[in-house]
Amino acid sequence: MAIHINLTDRKVCTTEHFSVGYDAVGKRYLIDIIITWVIWYSRYYSISKEEYEMFDTNIEKLKSIANECYKTGISHQRFVDSENLRDEIIKICDECDSQYYASQSKMESLCPNCAHYLYGYENCPHKMKNNKCEICGWDGSVSTLITNLKNNI
Ligand SMILES: [Zn+2]
Ligand SMILES: [Zn+2]
Repeated sequence: MAIHINLTDRKVCTTEHFSVGYDAVGKRYLIDIIITWVIWYSRYYSISKEEYEMFDTNIEKLKSIANECYKTGISHQRFVDSENLRDEIIKICDECDSQYYASQSKMESLCPNCAHYLYGYENCPHKMKNNKCEICGWDGSVSTLITNLKNNI
């Protein structure tokens, strides 16, 4: 996972966040989808040579493939690799419904913020940028329960 992939003969779609190209090392055509979440990174999905050539002949079809891969994420059958080492371990918090990096939380299904207020674990120092914490991925969501707990402290 998270190896560096170099695409040659890259064709970049300027209106959507994707490009297609040939991976000479893996001897395969790939679609590179840019994910804009906390940090920008690429996810790679396999496409056929015919699909690669659609860039010039049937870009709309390629856009729909890109969109489908984007929505399904890393569980899509075309998924090959991701630049983001932590990609597989983005979880959704049971309490506040925010996304977070599993590696940053002590609890199995709670973000660092909820784990702090509910169970007293040390909170993440939260470095918010564009409504996401750059460290733990928390989006600032606070459940009613947590709001009440905070007010009683
Ligand atoms: Zn939470
Ligand atoms: Zn944080």
